[in-house]
Amino acid sequence: MMDSDSQTRLAENWRAVQQDVQAAVTAANRPDDSVTIIGVTKYVDAETTLALVNAGCRVLGENRPQVLWKKNEEVAFPDDVQWHLIGHLQRNKLRRSLPFRPMIHSVDSPRLLTAIVEEAAAQQIPTKVLLEVNISGEEAKTGLKPQELRPMIESHLGSSESGEVEIVGLMAMAGWGTDADAARQQFAATRQLRDELQQQTGVALPELSMGMSGDFAAAIAEGATMVRIGSRLFEGFLPTP
Ligand SMILES: *Cc1c(COP(=O)(O)O)cnc(C)c1O
Repeated sequence: MMDSDSQTRLAENWRAVQQDVQAAVTAANRPDDSVTIIGVTKYVDAETTLALVNAGCRVLGENRPQVLWKKNEEVAFPDDVQWHLIGHLQRNKLRRSLPFRPMIHSVDSPRLLTAIVEEAAAQQIPTKVLLEVNISGEEAKTGLKPQELRPMIESHLGSSESGEVEIVGLMAMAGWGTDADAARQQFAATRQLRDELQQQTGVALPELSMGMSGDFAAAIAEGATMVRIGSRLFEGFLPTP
């Protein structure tokens, strides 16, 4: 069990993050409920993850599917917890992952999208996905090149098997070591790309997953609908770098 000091600290962190996100939403003149906080729990064990849920965070992100499975074996999460897979996903991990009904943020190849379509059809599980775009242009970053997105959306649209899988938006990360201005420009470019794709394909892409602990305010100013926040939530729990 978590001791009560830790439980209190976690509840304070969750409240502080909610407040800061809300302040960024207000500063951007956006409606109060326009941004969802995804609590990124990849840094902590199952028990601490559950403690965050009990503090009120019902939307969780993991970057490794094996960890998602394992945590669900170790503790019983409430039914209303929504899981998001945010890290590079191997196709052979889909079969065990889909029953958790995750939103998949990290679709970074046509092959992965095809595999999700096949597995979702086989298990008859409606699945929402985001296309991950490498907006910083860094070689080391995962994600699709901007010009790869349109053909993927169009071929998904044209395929009769896509039934269970809906592409609902884009995910992006700012490049390593980018300063606040550069990060904001990359988020703006992601939104612009989304707007163009909507126009070109006629597919609604309402979701923009962008912004982490260090840059969520800039992402919200540029239209993020989901921010993925990890280290800010676990201040006091993690070794300081
Ligand atoms: C770890 C991670 C996050 C959270 O990052 P923090 O800086 O700890 O908030 C967000 N998105 C992805 C894809 C991650 O892997």
